[in-house]
Amino acid sequence: MPAPQPLRVVSTNPSVEADPVRRLATYFDGLDQGVIAIDRRGRVVVATAPARAILSGLGFTATTGSSGRDLLRILAAITGSGLRDGFAMLRRARAEEGPQAFETVTAGRTIALRIHPVDGGWTVALEDMTEVRAREANSAELARIDPLTGLANRLMLRERLSASLDRLNRYGEPCAVLLLDLDRFKPINDTLGHAVGDALLEKVADRLRSAVRSADTVARIGGDEFVVIQAGAARQEDVTILARRLVDLIGRTYIIDGQLLTIGVSVGAALAPKDGTDAERLLKHADLALYRAKLDGRATFRFFEPEMDVRMQARRRLELDIRQALARREFVLHYQPQLNLKNQSVTGCEALLRWKHPERGTVSPADFIPLAEEVGLIVPIGEWVVRQACRDAALWPDTVSVAVNVSPAQFKSDRLVDMIVSALATSGLPPRRLEVEITEGVLLQNNDHTLDTLHRLRKLGVRVSMDDFGTGYSSLSYLRSFPFDKIKIDRSFVKDIATAPDGDAIIRAIAGLGRSLGMTTVAEGVETEEQMRRIQAEGCTDVQGYLISRPVPLDDLMRLLPRDPHDNPSAPGVHP
Ligand code: C2E
Ligand code: MG
Ligand code: MG
Repeated sequence: MPAPQPLRVVSTNPSVEADPVRRLATYFDGLDQGVIAIDRRGRVVVATAPARAILSGLGFTATTGSSGRDLLRILAAITGSGLRDGFAMLRRARAEEGPQAFETVTAGRTIALRIHPVDGGWTVALEDMTEVRAREANSAELARIDPLTGLANRLMLRERLSASLDRLNRYGEPCAVLLLDLDRFKPINDTLGHAVGDALLEKVADRLRSAVRSADTVARIGGDEFVVIQAGAARQEDVTILARRLVDLIGRTYIIDGQLLTIGVSVGAALAPKDGTDAERLLKHADLALYRAKLDGRATFRFFEPEMDVRMQARRRLELDIRQALARREFVLHYQPQLNLKNQSVTGCEALLRWKHPERGTVSPADFIPLAEEVGLIVPIGEWVVRQACRDAALWPDTVSVAVNVSPAQFKSDRLVDMIVSALATSGLPPRRLEVEITEGVLLQNNDHTLDTLHRLRKLGVRVSMDDFGTGYSSLSYLRSFPFDKIKIDRSFVKDIATAPDGDAIIRAIAGLGRSLGMTTVAEGVETEEQMRRIQAEGCTDVQGYLISRPVPLDDLMRLLPRDPHDNPSAPGVHP
């Protein structure tokens, strides 16, 4: 096999051999890139066809031997000065700074240049970037727009907000940030479908756009969350006027697909510089104000106030504390006995959670369970309650059952039934001695999953009670949706029994309902002998309340329970 021949450039022009620039130029000729080689005096040695095309498109010519002025003019255009500066630029490339790259817009075209010093001159690579840059600009623009509504997105919001804050810093021009969240958008989306939800969002966006001035920015930053940057808002009144207009405008009826729809909006506002001078802080403060607006009944607006931050921090601390409470074993269960009126014996006890906080003291469940539910911590806490209650109840007489309160959030988790099975198995408590108390909140998420869970619990032998009966919207209809074992009549009805005219009519009706449905009826919150007497007369089967006993620690409870399960249990009659 013949040895491979080294590649050799053959030139027919003897002068080319002598001059390195000219020799280099021969390599470039025929390239499909725009390259110009120029010698030390600035004369064009060679220009590739694409380079000539680019230059002629700009109204210049570059042929071999021409002075290179056209190129220098382009370089001058970059520096924004005369030809002399064009030369200066070439020299810079040769001097300490090495290859130079530039981009310039000349005669409506965007031209990129790269200048390389070579022996005896320079090479300049030219590229027409006009289309590339246009495409980039277009996609950069698209990357800043919310595709559904055409409003600014998060990215553009950030840029606009930082530009506004820049103006604040430089010229003292104030601005306001309004954070908007549609009220109950999710149900519309869920029940009427995403197409209707999307159409509604588009119309909301149109109304927002129409409500602001051209210097303001409207952005969509989440499903149903919007932000308005109000430029030049110096006084709170300026913001009030806009916020009021937004709440009013968004709250007007929409017609979508021939249907009439209404939706509200809540607005939280923060002012720069008063409430912050950086984007992060302003948005956070507007968010706190929005939270307040939501709490205050929605379809309204609130301004940020420093106390909101304090309250929120307290909440966050509480959340943190709740997270740690389980590990630190700060939770305990107290038990409140229920007395059966027929045989005057304790038939069950309700487990009520107590939190022994090292600094806060004993915290009432009313103060931390709502937050624990909101942040999902009720699931692990509730599991602890069930396991502990089963363990404790396993020590009680066989005739006494234990009731635990189970929150709606626990029903959302798939593990509830498995967890209860496991708690029963490890404690050895027979399922019939466990009772689950649920409130209307559980059935409000009245889906098949909830009912399926309840039926599975029933199949295990666990009993199910309806707690706080009568306080909800449609307690009666819930009684039909599931065959409860027990109805717990809310304390408020018991309170009225001896005082309000006809105060006992409701108790009588519920007791009758329970009798005909075969459900036990427990009156909650019985505090006086008089209440007790009347409740008994109305036909409730059981009572629970301070009159029998307050909720007490396990040790105290043991004294209230009959010692031997085979003894004939007697009424405890103890009032600790
Ligand atoms: P609930 O399930 O309706 O519990 C009855 C509440 O009434 C208890 O309040 C109890 O101490 C109180 N009470 C009982 N008898 C009387 C009385 O004669 N007079 C008055 N004024 N009050 C009486 P507590 O222990 O503060 O619990 C409040 C609520 O917190 C409970 O209402 C329940 O909804 C919830 N809760 C308690 N423990 C747990 C738990 O382990 N898990 C869940 N998810 N919720 C719990
Ligand atoms: Mg209860
Ligand atoms: Mg209750």
